[in-house]
Amino acid sequence: MLRILDKFVFYHIMKIKHLLLLTALAALLTGFIKNNENGRVFSVVSPDDSLVIRNIYSEALMSFESYENLKYLCKNIGGRLTGSANAETGVKWVYEKLKGMSLDNVYMQEFPVRNWVRGDKEYAYAESKKYGKKEFNVCALGTSIGTGVNGISGKIVEVKSFEELKKLGRENVEGKIVFFNQAADQKSYSTGYGYGSSVYQRVRGAVEGARYGAVGVVVRSATVCLDNNPHTGVMHYNDSIPKIPAIGISTLGADELEKMFNEDNDISFYFRTTCKQNDDVLSHNVIGEIKGSEKPEEVILVGGHLDSWDLGEGAHDDGTGVVQSMEVMRLLVKLGIKPKHTIRCVAFMDEEIDQKGGRYYAETTKNEKHIAAIETDGGGFVPHGFSFSGTPEQVAALKSYKEYFTPYWLHYFENGGGGVDISFLKNSGAALIGLVVDSQRYFDYHHSAADRFENVNRREMQLGAASLAGLIYLIDKYGL
Ligand SMILES: [Zn+2]
Repeated sequence: MLRILDKFVFYHIMKIKHLLLLTALAALLTGFIKNNENGRVFSVVSPDDSLVIRNIYSEALMSFESYENLKYLCKNIGGRLTGSANAETGVKWVYEKLKGMSLDNVYMQEFPVRNWVRGDKEYAYAESKKYGKKEFNVCALGTSIGTGVNGISGKIVEVKSFEELKKLGRENVEGKIVFFNQAADQKSYSTGYGYGSSVYQRVRGAVEGARYGAVGVVVRSATVCLDNNPHTGVMHYNDSIPKIPAIGISTLGADELEKMFNEDNDISFYFRTTCKQNDDVLSHNVIGEIKGSEKPEEVILVGGHLDSWDLGEGAHDDGTGVVQSMEVMRLLVKLGIKPKHTIRCVAFMDEEIDQKGGRYYAETTKNEKHIAAIETDGGGFVPHGFSFSGTPEQVAALKSYKEYFTPYWLHYFENGGGGVDISFLKNSGAALIGLVVDSQRYFDYHHSAADRFENVNRREMQLGAASLAGLIYLIDKYGL
């Protein structure tokens, strides 16, 4: 039975091979040339380039180096909160790794960053006559002030929008703890939209609560997933409004607190956080580059951010982006690809809080010419393509590269965002490009204790690195 099946499969494989050969021949005979809308001539698919890209993917999938790098970054170094000793250990490690890669130039950029520290494990509980005392898993939101060791308490008032809060007004909010509980929108295919629909509560909740006299805020985690992990992330204060402490609560915890509140709205809430802001410290971007053989003064950048939140290991956000960017350099060196333009890999610092790394990089390179800047900060998931912004010519050229990636199931070549760190290059003339990956699981991990090495799939991450290297190869060869 097995033998018959083997024969059957073999016959069909041969048939497919035959078909592929015929298709390739037909393509050769009909020619590869087509004009894009700007009159520039591009090959539809050059067999030479297809082969180079295939070699890039093969090498990326067969080498365990990027995965081992991610493991080291997550397990030996761990979460890399901006300003922390761990972040600097990460800086030194990336620097040494790049130094060992036969690049032409490896260096750091130094600048001051905030030094916010989380302090002790946060503690919170709600109390009502009906339910008694119930503890919740919470975390301080990034850059929040702490409550001090005694904590704070107040009656809970739940709202699902800033408009609701405004309607309640100072008479119903003063002295209380505002519970912001708008759930992330589940409807959209891209989970980023869901995140974007609710993250405003985390970023501006403390300011809005304090505006009406609240003493603290509890914020439902900005994520489409339902779990018991509080998800942190940056929040902001406004200098003209009193600063009050802010914590995140897990989505399941938020549902439970809402249930308590709906059945008995006389609920007291207590929380204790000892986070605080220390003096600024110096930190770094880490940069490695291969000098261009023909136009060394023109740069193609690939990067991710080295800092992360501290609750997890900064695996998907954005350890994978850093090791993928390093892997691009390794792939080019290993495959003997000599770029015409300078290829620069950047591990940015401080994306999560003030984006000092992205700002500093843009400021200090404003006299250089960047052709393209590519960021990978959507997690190490299956790549779907690229989103980009640029001139019509740049966009047309990028779209014309799509066919090279069909064999790797990349199909998304559309206008859109590049990434936070490279956004500061928006006036540089560079095309800004983001690696688009499958987003369905990203917010299961994002900014929470679940963002660990174990939750990264090796091959998915490697496919992302290969896609980046493939696109950079084409941009370098044909320009934008
Ligand atoms: Zn990120």
